[in-house]
Formats: sequence, C-alpha cells, structure tokens
Amino acid sequence: MTVERPGAAAQPRHLTSGAEESARLSALRSYCVLETGRESRFDDLTCLASTICETPVSLVSLVDTNRLFFKSAHGVDLREVPYPDFFCGHAIRQRDLFVVPDANEDARFAKHPLVVDSPRVRFYAGAPLITPHGYRLGTLCVIDFVPRQLQPKQLEMLRTLGRQVMCQLELNLQAMRDPLTGLYNRRQLEEGLHREVLRARRLGGTVGVMAIDVDHFKRVNDTLGHEVGDRALRGIADELASCVREEDIACRAGGEEFVIILPGTGKTALRSRAEAVRRTIEQAQILAGEGTLKLTVSIGLASFPAYGDSGQAVLRAADVALYKAKAAGRNRVTMCTPGVARSFPAQVA
Ligand code: GH3
Ligand code: MG
Ligand code: MG
Repeated sequence: MTVERPGAAAQPRHLTSGAEESARLSALRSYCVLETGRESRFDDLTCLASTICETPVSLVSLVDTNRLFFKSAHGVDLREVPYPDFFCGHAIRQRDLFVVPDANEDARFAKHPLVVDSPRVRFYAGAPLITPHGYRLGTLCVIDFVPRQLQPKQLEMLRTLGRQVMCQLELNLQAMRDPLTGLYNRRQLEEGLHREVLRARRLGGTVGVMAIDVDHFKRVNDTLGHEVGDRALRGIADELASCVREEDIACRAGGEEFVIILPGTGKTALRSRAEAVRRTIEQAQILAGEGTLKLTVSIGLASFPAYGDSGQAVLRAADVALYKAKAAGRNRVTMCTPGVARSFPAQVA
C-alpha cells in the first residue's frame, strides 16, 4: 500500500513509464474504492452529468490494471468491462476533457468490440479524475450511441462535475486516514480486520496481525518536545509503510501504537515479517527536528484462526503478546500463546 499523505505537495504526473503507471495504480488502490458497491452520492453526480449533457449513459469509471471499474453507472447495468484501453484509458492521459464525437470515424476506436458490437458506443466525453498529487484515477464520462457534440456550457459542467466526483473520493480517503501519518485510522483497522477475517473464514485462509508499540516514546516528547515527537511518528509510519505488501493494511491504532493486518499470513511467515519490521525500525535514522533519532519497537503477534475466531479477539491476543514483549525487555517480537487466545471468549467478527 502506498501512502499518499493528505496535504503533501501536489505534483502533476504524466503517464510516461511503467513506474509511473504502477504509482498511479497504487494511488488508485489507496482510495479503497475498487470493489465497493454503489453509493448515492456518486449516482447523483452521474445522473446530473447525463441530464446536463443529454446523454443516455454516464459513468464514474476507474482505470484499473485489466479493466474499467464503474463506481457509478447511470443508464447501463454494468459494474466493469475488461477494457482498460478503451476511451477512459485514453482520457486519463489528458489533463482536460477527452472527447470522441464519432468513434466510427476515429482509428483508435473504430474496431473496438464495444464500438463494433453491442452496445455500439459512438460518442464519448470524459473529464479526468485527478488527485491532489496529480494521479489520474479515471473519469467522469458521458456516452451516447449516436455521433454527438456537446455545447461549451455542457463541457464546462462535465468538468465541474468531474471535480465533484474527485472531492467525494478525497472525502472517502480522509475519513479512512490518520492525518498525521497518512496510514489507515482506527476505524479502518477495525473494518479492515473484520472484512479480512470474514474473507479468510469463507475461503479457509489466515489473517496475521502485528500490534506494534514504540519503545520509551514518552522520552522523545519529554526531551525534544511534542512537535519533534510528531515528526518521529511520521518517520516511523513511513518505515512501516515501506515494509508492507499491496494487500496488507498498515494502521495507526492511536498514539504511538500501530497495527499491520496481513491477509494470508500464517504463524511462521508472520514471525519473519515482524522480525523484518523490528529490524527496519532499529536500523532506521528517524528524522526528528534538526537531526535523526534511533528508536525501537516491540511487536505482539496473533493470527486468525489459530489465536482467536474474530477480528477483535485476534487483535486483543496480539495486544497481550505485545505486553509480554514489553515485559521481556522491549525491541522484540512475541507470538501469542494458545493459552492467551483461549482466555478471551470468542466474539462475532
Ligand atoms: P513503552 O516502551 O512502555 O511503550 O513506553 P512509552 O513511553 O512509549 O509509553 P507510554 O504509554 O508511557 O507513553 C506513550 C507516549 O506517546 C505518551 C505520549 O506523550 C506519546 N504520544 C501519544 N500520541 C502522540 C502523538 O500524537 N504525538 C506525540 N508527539 N506523542 C504522542
Ligand atoms: Mg503505547
Ligand atoms: Mg510506547
């Protein structure tokens, strides 16, 4: 998971290389909107776009690796199509509107299956959805089945509505992120863990949990001040983010405590991943004020289903293991023991 910290400097990005595209896809994933269901605040905007532009179809279309995912679809009953290279794939290479008055007359699209066969798309106009960091996630677009032009006022309104779609995506992101570190917040921790446990239960998989607490952090505040402490927390969060895979969920649980949820990670892999995290922090030069700090973390581990049969139970088991790591001297990783898991009654995930 790439951390796009809210408020960082906006830099326009252009899709020029594989690395740029992979950064764009990471940014798209960080909005956590893929796979989510319909929401009226997006449906209202596609309905407005269709009405204003007088087109039968309007979409909030997100350009994923192998598909276009439609967060909202007005006028068609579609959730996605397997064509990331279709109109929206071209539209996200523009900074402004992308308009195709007649697809039959455009060599880039004339032979496309969705133009040649049903639904026989002819007209397209899309406003790119651009993040504050300059990544283009997809479009708000309008589509017709006959060749068309839009009036200047309609084009302007499409731009405006595109910006409103982006505002909604940003609000989503801000509701999920901790503003200091850019990691997921406590609410996402609970919801993400609940979701992963349900998925693992359905598929017979595992979910690993690392409860991470910075050692003797109070001393940093006491000796260097709260502001330097804040900067150090951001530095630690950046180090943690560098340790996680795309499917992991790195959260700030509160204060100087962090949790990483690792779907599909059983006991052995969990321990070695946690050791890697512990070493990374131990070896890092954490930026704080004018200089750098050496800090360490203690880590408690537990996993579903071995150490708890709900997200909440696994998290508590990891916390108990963390407490043991502290008591044993800090800067270490401790796995939950089965006895600890049994001492917590199972709860519904
Ligand atoms: P231990 O090794 O036992 O975890 O020691 P500790 O000092 O890290 O633990 P303790 O719970 O005594 O103190 C945690 C400190 O974290 C106290 C608080 O001032 C600091 N802290 C919590 N949230 C924030 C924050 O948002 N910013 C800053 N700068 N400090 C914070
Ligand atoms: Mg603490
Ligand atoms: Mg601490």
